[in-house]
Amino acid sequence: MQIAFDNSFHATMEGFYAPAEAARPSAPRLLAFNHALAARLGIDATGTGDDELARLFSGAELPPGADPLALAYAGHQFGHFSPQLGDGRALLLGEVVAPDGVRFDIQLKGSGPTMFSRNGDGKAAIGPVLREYLVSEAMAAMGVPTTRALAAVATGERVQRERAHPGAVLTRVARSHIRVGTFQFFAAHFGAEHVIRLSDYAIARHFPELAEAANAHLALLERVIDLQCSLIAHWMSVGFIHGVMNTDNVAISGETIDYGPCAFMDRFSVSTVFSSIDAHGRYAYGRQPQIMHWNMARFAEALLPAIHAVDPADVERAKELVAAVPDRFRSVWDDTMRAKLGLGEAAGGDPELIDELFAELERHGADFTGFFRALSMLLRGDRAALDALLPDEGAMASWIAAWRARIEAEGGDFAERAEAMDAVNPLYIPRNHLVEAALAAAEAGDMTPWLRLLETVQHPFAARADWAEFAGPAPEDFGPYTTFCGT
Ligand code: AMP
Ligand code: MG
Repeated sequence: MQIAFDNSFHATMEGFYAPAEAARPSAPRLLAFNHALAARLGIDATGTGDDELARLFSGAELPPGADPLALAYAGHQFGHFSPQLGDGRALLLGEVVAPDGVRFDIQLKGSGPTMFSRNGDGKAAIGPVLREYLVSEAMAAMGVPTTRALAAVATGERVQRERAHPGAVLTRVARSHIRVGTFQFFAAHFGAEHVIRLSDYAIARHFPELAEAANAHLALLERVIDLQCSLIAHWMSVGFIHGVMNTDNVAISGETIDYGPCAFMDRFSVSTVFSSIDAHGRYAYGRQPQIMHWNMARFAEALLPAIHAVDPADVERAKELVAAVPDRFRSVWDDTMRAKLGLGEAAGGDPELIDELFAELERHGADFTGFFRALSMLLRGDRAALDALLPDEGAMASWIAAWRARIEAEGGDFAERAEAMDAVNPLYIPRNHLVEAALAAAEAGDMTPWLRLLETVQHPFAARADWAEFAGPAPEDFGPYTTFCGT
């Protein structure tokens, strides 16, 4: 198999990375390969056997043309600055330019230690690898910007965590791996010249149109803020909680990155937290916009030397952009929620209607994903799903009446509205109980439940009678759900 690598970061950004090598697993075995994604990248994998794929996407064999390297980055972790993080268990193999001209990184995750590993082993266990594969592919299918999963390979080795697990390597595909933390690293250790070079590279790669702006670095800040507002609104609209919104986990491209203790909420509550290490709920569902705002302030700080170098007066403008994040987010959020509710145009009272909906969902602890599908069924004249979700008779009656009135006021056809809602409100998401069962089976050697779940979450919108078991929340006895950082 040929991968037409074209490694711009390696070629032009010397001093911003460390060359690195993969540990070579002795008995790699292919667990999953994403043929659709390979095709999208212009990689022809047809005719390549599983054994060769397993070697190429585990580090056992270096694909020709790869220039493996580890990226340096810093980051605020739970509010505290760590000046030196970096790819401690990841290896950038290189970049490919897809047939449509879009450039992608291809990275191995769990491929052994690098100079940034600190005390870590650089490895990954099969559970977190298959979890990231499943959840990132689910996000992609829902249309949420995200890194993707190209392959999962078992290494044949054991990885020691709280107990020993089978080891695995994930091949991750991203628009790039440049993070807010990458800017922070070079701002903290090297100063303006490096920040300018990194910013210029990010602009040329991701937003070439910004190079023409009077102050391109300021324009980069504005664009990254826009992308973060859209991303976090999109996450929240599907009940997604990232779990570790540290600045090293914020990609400049606007993609979701670093799937660790993330999960989707069943029963709605704004204070939902799944991560075992998030004791104070810093990254709870409802705090994600505030944290994104905080992260954008850190990004602005890191970019300031570059912004200032072009025009010192633009420092004020950068502050204004950061100060405007909550308003910007609110406007994107209202648009996102209007689409979920089948509303076509903005109208006065929408923010109140939306806020009241969330207060009601909290009050009734309704299944978040199921609720929006029940609303579209209601528009079709079928209220069975809603009644099943809200057993208290008359629950939410006044909110539902207000929403219906709002739809009627716009005019238009109810059936069409219901269709439009079903095209943005997923029915099949990676439900926590299903994910856990699939990962347990995979760890025991049976990939069938994981492959079946993957297939459903790759088709999130259209209802299928034979997938009924994938559509509902966890049974009561599943209990409170806790996730662990995906190492
Ligand atoms: P994360 O929690 O995935 O955002 O990772 C935070 C930092 O810890 C990054 O610099 C990772 O490369 C590093 N890290 C996490 N797990 C390991 C590991 N098993 N070995 C080495 N470094 C790791
Ligand atoms: Mg990370």
